[in-house]
Amino acid sequence: MSTQTYTGSCHCRAVAFTVDLDLDQALRCNCSICTKLGAVWAFAPKARMTFTSGADALDDYQFGQKRLHHRFCRHCGIESFAEGVAPDGTPTVGINLRCLDGVEIEKLTPRLHDGRSL
Ligand SMILES: [Zn+2]
Repeated sequence: MSTQTYTGSCHCRAVAFTVDLDLDQALRCNCSICTKLGAVWAFAPKARMTFTSGADALDDYQFGQKRLHHRFCRHCGIESFAEGVAPDGTPTVGINLRCLDGVEIEKLTPRLHDGRSL
């Protein structure tokens, strides 16, 4: 696989977007929020994500060191992405791949990120 353009949304589809991702880079994480959320993630520069609707429906959840913004739909509650700043200063989004259209999560082979230990 290589970088392709995907569409995604929250459950109620108030929040919808397109984003360029390489699903070979998928990861899952064992940190406190990922354990409960069950998301599989892939990352992209924020500039590669475009909202087609609902940017104004997003709410924000932060915890711990508050470096990441967990962005969820205020109508249906689904966290379709998180955002933060990469070590090189690039605004970056982590997309919850379960929110993409037409992606079969079970066919991906995400590597484990040991977020619990960080
Ligand atoms: Zn929604």
